[in-house]
Amino acid sequence: GNGPYLDSQRRRESNARTYPRKIPAAFVSASGLRVKDADGKTYMDCLQGAGTLALGHNHPVVLEAMQDVLASGLPLHTLDLTTPVKEKFVDEVFSLLPAPLAGRAKIQFCGPSGADAVEAAVKLVKTATGRRTMFSFHGGYHGMTHGALGLTGNLGPKRRVPGLMADVHFLPYPYSYRCPFGVGSAEGARIGSQFIERLLDDPESGIVEGAGMIVEAVQGEGGVIPSPDEWMRELRRITAKSGVPLMLDEVQTGIGRTGAMFAFEHSGITPDVVILSKAIGGGLPLAVVVYDEALDVWEPGSHAGTFRGNQLAMAAGTAVLRYVRENGLADHAAVLGAGMMERLRRVQADAGCIGDVRGRGLMIGVEIVDPHGARDSLGSYPAHPALAKAIQQGCLRRGLILELGGRHGSVVRFLPPLIVTDEELEAIAEIFYDAVREAER
Ligand code: PMP
Repeated sequence: GNGPYLDSQRRRESNARTYPRKIPAAFVSASGLRVKDADGKTYMDCLQGAGTLALGHNHPVVLEAMQDVLASGLPLHTLDLTTPVKEKFVDEVFSLLPAPLAGRAKIQFCGPSGADAVEAAVKLVKTATGRRTMFSFHGGYHGMTHGALGLTGNLGPKRRVPGLMADVHFLPYPYSYRCPFGVGSAEGARIGSQFIERLLDDPESGIVEGAGMIVEAVQGEGGVIPSPDEWMRELRRITAKSGVPLMLDEVQTGIGRTGAMFAFEHSGITPDVVILSKAIGGGLPLAVVVYDEALDVWEPGSHAGTFRGNQLAMAAGTAVLRYVRENGLADHAAVLGAGMMERLRRVQADAGCIGDVRGRGLMIGVEIVDPHGARDSLGSYPAHPALAKAIQQGCLRRGLILELGGRHGSVVRFLPPLIVTDEELEAIAEIFYDAVREAER
């Protein structure tokens, strides 16, 4: 009611509708792991733009790359015309791809967000195969645009949207803590891949002709759920058999996050399509689809779009890709992530409310449960989203920003920058421990 200007609290509440989190602060500066609010309070940021900032906030090599572009007089907006900056970016992306994909890869610049790249990838495989059925996974997340939302395997964000993309067939994901087959992890994954093979082999299923299968090697928004490597190899074998392009959504897992440059490398498979965004733009919007040349059916202009490949984003992204590669940050993430999960398992041993600690590299999730609730047939406790929220708020008061995920919002997600140190992770674990113990009381 105070004229055209909202007071700051109301303004924050209205912004908060985009993300269901309450952080009562406005942030004025940031560096590496840390952000600082207007009152001078410092927070350790384990969200990092949902895993976007591989080198943390305002890394000098990223800032310098952008400043160089600005000082050079380079055309900043070129639609899809080539510049030296774009050439370097493409070279850098190709240099990161493992063989044999590297030798066969094409790259398509898309609209600037991860969801845009998902849309482009779906359009590409449908065009290339002439088929319409997409396979996707329960709990998977691919974005909020109309098509990407249709592929998202979580009812929450879709429930109130009628008429999303039809012809999407959802398959079970090997979520070991709540295995859809009611058995332990390796056995559950084995049954799961057998189920998929039978379904794709069975002419009576009516879905033998798949246009593509989209999957996250580690589900992120879905609750940080790594898939077993053997399961991924089975997906590769099964999809190859029926000519279904296998599409790895590496929007969140890509660029060192999971302890390999791309998460699909853990299983040694070669995907047909790799969807990349987040880290590849160094914090600026940028998304691409990398795909096998066998799928290259598009004519120039088949997939247009005004904002494909912003020069500043490509310069920032090239700096990140190069830094991650030259400094071995994927290996660093593997080592530090394993240490962090050990710390979190020690917290789990002391606390009653931690059902599961899991992850890969520096993509870690802690599932908060109700230890007084009834166990399921696997011995797992029910999700406890309210307690997860209390832990998140307790961390925030202590200067640690964490995000929640999972179907019920009961998984605390740790996505520190890949440049994080072991000492910083120790400090993060200590704050988390205190917040867990406080929330449990
Ligand atoms: N795919 C995955 C795996 C993601 O994690 C996300 C974003 N969290 C997206 C797609 C969508 O990306 P964007 O939010 O940039 O549209």
